[in-house]
Amino acid sequence: MGRVYNFSAGPAVLPLDCLLECQRELLDYDGTGMSIIEMSHRTKTFEGIVEEAKKDLKELLNIPDNYKIVFVQGGATLQFSCVPLNLMKNKKADYILTGEFSEKAYNEAKRYGDCAIIASSKDKNYSYIPDLSNLKIREDADYVYICDNNTIYGTKYKEYPNTLGKPLVADMSSSFLSQPIDVSKFGVIFAGVQKNVGPSGLVILIIREDLIRDDLEFTVPTLLKWKTQVDADSMYNTPNTFSIYMCSKVFKWLKSIGGLEEMEKRNKEKAKILYDYLDNSKYISTVEKSSRSIMNVPFKTKSPTLDELFIKEAKKYNIVSIKGHRKVGGMRASIYNAMPISGVEALVDFMKKFEKEYLL
Ligand SMILES: *Cc1c(COP(=O)(O)O)cnc(C)c1O
Repeated sequence: MGRVYNFSAGPAVLPLDCLLECQRELLDYDGTGMSIIEMSHRTKTFEGIVEEAKKDLKELLNIPDNYKIVFVQGGATLQFSCVPLNLMKNKKADYILTGEFSEKAYNEAKRYGDCAIIASSKDKNYSYIPDLSNLKIREDADYVYICDNNTIYGTKYKEYPNTLGKPLVADMSSSFLSQPIDVSKFGVIFAGVQKNVGPSGLVILIIREDLIRDDLEFTVPTLLKWKTQVDADSMYNTPNTFSIYMCSKVFKWLKSIGGLEEMEKRNKEKAKILYDYLDNSKYISTVEKSSRSIMNVPFKTKSPTLDELFIKEAKKYNIVSIKGHRKVGGMRASIYNAMPISGVEALVDFMKKFEKEYLL
């Protein structure tokens, strides 16, 4: 069939079962005689898909009743603007910087208000999650912002900051549905789905009800007001129908394997195979051990020339899209939910071969 082990950071590998189902349904979705991508979003059929997707997501993440789920466009990047636009009352927000995406979010929010950096790991090229005790959260901050899993640098929060009652806002793009979370700890969670859940062009937002407001401080475009999306049930305008449809399949797949507890077990098992080997090899891990992500695993050899050779040779073993981000260099293996254990084993086998030949 020609499938490869795709270690891309996003858009990324999806469960084969979901792709095959999509293929089977492409010309005729459920007896409608048309493909899902040709179908009006106002049909009963499509509305049914959205309802079912919301129901399954709520079940998977155990989302409390006082949260709303919406599907929006513009990528996680547009939420960097929507967060301050929808949440600022005092026009003050506190940010923790752990990488490129939290920096971008901070820089965007600064355009609208007084934003403080209350912790940062920039001093060591974002190779760790900063200490969260004694954060100087301001009395009148409207929210505290974090990026949960740092896709580029391969770090992940193991516990969440105590925000002294301020809403915690989390960009979970690259950790969404990789393990169970306690949603009630967050004011807002958002995730671009193309990392771990579906095709690009869709963001899932989970917003606590009391944070969905009409009386905003700014003149916010109608479509960027969360309230617009919530009131219209994600259908104020045409949503990304195809991506919602694929996500709904991935939610079913997650439920079928045993939900997020089982997903976490598998993800940890995969990450352990890779890290255990890395730590006993000539490769260099670029992340502090206690901050390691189980989704994105960056590593290097001793030279950029060998890194390049690694990437080239890996292709011969069907291992692709493993080049690291330019901010870190080297390689990065993204081992999202849909990466099978056999993919990680194939990677480690290749790494051993390459080590023997070039690194010892
Ligand atoms: C990829 C990514 C983004 C950017 O997502 P877009 O959909 O391209 O806007 C933001 N945050 C995190 C954590 C990401 O991994």
